[in-house]
Amino acid sequence: MTSLIQSFDPSNGELLGEVENSTTQQVNAAVARAKAAQKFWRKTPLPERARIINNAYQAIDHLTDSFSELLAREMGKDIRRATGEAGGAVYMGQHYAQDAARALSPRQLSGGTELQYRPLGVVGVISPWNYPVMMANNLIVPALVAGNTVVLKPSEETPLVAETFFGELKKHLPDGVLTIVHGDREAGKALVESEIQMIAFTGSKVAGQDIMARAASKVKRLVMELGGKDPMIVMRDANLEQAARFAVAGSFENSGQMCTSIERIYVDERIADKFEQRVTEIANMYQIGPWDMPSVNIGPIINATQHAKIVEQIKDAEEKGATILLGGSQQPERYIRPTVITGMTPEMKIETEETFGPVVSISRYSDVEEAIERANASEYGLGAVVFGNQGVQDVAEELEAGMVGINQGQGGSGDAPWVGAKQSGLGFHGSVDGHRQFAQVRVVSK
Ligand code: NAD
Repeated sequence: MTSLIQSFDPSNGELLGEVENSTTQQVNAAVARAKAAQKFWRKTPLPERARIINNAYQAIDHLTDSFSELLAREMGKDIRRATGEAGGAVYMGQHYAQDAARALSPRQLSGGTELQYRPLGVVGVISPWNYPVMMANNLIVPALVAGNTVVLKPSEETPLVAETFFGELKKHLPDGVLTIVHGDREAGKALVESEIQMIAFTGSKVAGQDIMARAASKVKRLVMELGGKDPMIVMRDANLEQAARFAVAGSFENSGQMCTSIERIYVDERIADKFEQRVTEIANMYQIGPWDMPSVNIGPIINATQHAKIVEQIKDAEEKGATILLGGSQQPERYIRPTVITGMTPEMKIETEETFGPVVSISRYSDVEEAIERANASEYGLGAVVFGNQGVQDVAEELEAGMVGINQGQGGSGDAPWVGAKQSGLGFHGSVDGHRQFAQVRVVSK
């Protein structure tokens, strides 16, 4: 019997639409079609594949406004951010297509040896809801350019925008090259266990661990972009205004629902009073509201479970002695008002578990070594940031993260990989090295 996944506007609970839930049989059938299509797609020359993909993105460019509105309604981010994401995905599709084509061209080594980047087969892309277009897009493009075909399973929270965006893109690609299946983790598991050769996943660490275990029996290739608990260290001689602005923006971006959200701040106790005061003033200027309210910069939380988790973490911090400077655990339905807490300690959930909400969590330190130790105490290692002057490079050097920002956010230039350390991921995407992870390296000696 057909079952449906309903999708709701997180700002008011209004039903936006529904898609058909894919059964295991349907997932397997989609993979079989993708496998058949891979036979001709892998034989299509690399520059031609890149050209076809580039043209497909150009062909959907005029739809960016409608993608943006749907993205905003379904995920809850305001229309400016949604437009940035949808427009960015259309642009990145073209940029990555050209970039990946260069990265995946054969290379001549000494002695007549050739290094080739060959297709792996069918790649399963499984994506989250927080950047529902961009996250899937970043993995689909290099996978396709490499000559693989792709079966996408988007998040069950944002199926409509995924279906619309990638459904439109698909129309401009050869049949079977990109297929979409829908469902929750059960459909994800079915895809992982199907006859695919690689899983490119973005999502939580727990789901990632399950995927890795299921992929093990056939040694399926993996690119795993997982969670984070990014720290920020504010040193005594930091530019206080810049640091305070960054602390708030980094904690509240995308309503805090971002893998590289600033989740823990360690500030030198000698400047802590001023820093906290300024952070609270800036945080107080943020407004919660739905996607189409012009002044809004914090949207709704994606669902009630996630909302309850954030409130629970704030409450736990309150109970364990944290001081609430703004907001707190009394929150309206669907939203988390901007919250600033100080006195965070390692015993609090807010110091160790991913919060994924608009909360600035501060702790004071007397010795920068102590700050480094606490910053590194996390199982995660996605991004890390340090603001300061004298000795700032030395502190940055000590931080255990895939991406480090010094007096600015992490993430680097557009050509840099997006990469996590420790339990924030395995493999990475973006950059020459990232594109090559979607291919089988083959050495041919002539
Ligand atoms: P999630 O892990 O719950 O779900 C992600 C996707 O995986 C969804 O499509 C879901 O249906 C599917 N899924 C869940 N369990 C599965 C399983 N056992 N097997 C196969 N598929 C499964 O994550 P989410 O709540 O959608 O997204 C938030 C998480 O994603 C956060 O932890 C965030 O840090 C992380 N994230 C990481 C990055 C990055 O680049 N590192 C980027 C965005 C989000």
